[in-house]
Amino acid sequence: MQGNRTFTMIKPDAVENNYIGAILEKINSAGFTIKAMVYTRLSKRDAEQFYAVHKERPFYGELVEYMSSGPIVAAILEKDNAVADFRTLIGATNPAEAAEGTIRKLYAKDISANAIHGSDSDENAQIEGRFFFSERDIH
Ligand code: GDP
Repeated sequence: MQGNRTFTMIKPDAVENNYIGAILEKINSAGFTIKAMVYTRLSKRDAEQFYAVHKERPFYGELVEYMSSGPIVAAILEKDNAVADFRTLIGATNPAEAAEGTIRKLYAKDISANAIHGSDSDENAQIEGRFFFSERDIH
């Protein structure tokens, strides 16, 4: 991914509230290009694996239940400085603390159902992208 790609998921709350279109519009308007995308649903086991890094955190069980509770959209995005710029675009983990105009401020429900995921490093962007996509899917 060489610093110009990141991975995102539109989470179950945002899908359920019909925010897919609005969120993709924000992402494109901010200069990100979609390189791969899928509408799917995580099994409980998928969610446990995807969030294994958070296994010791008190909210892990709740997070796994929530992330497997409904469909999501997973995507690989491209832009210069993708990881950092995307984290700025989505805003703070807790939407109550997210800056005005950020995706979480606009579309998230609460700290767990916070509308969108964005990778926190180039390394994790690559790992998370590979969780959903093969090389053949990425353009
Ligand atoms: P992120 O990088 O901003 O997504 O935040 P983290 O890596 O710290 O947490 C991963 C995800 O776990 C968040 O996006 C939330 O969905 C969830 N999460 C984080 N903190 C809490 C919390 O205190 N309670 C609950 N229920 N979920 C949380």
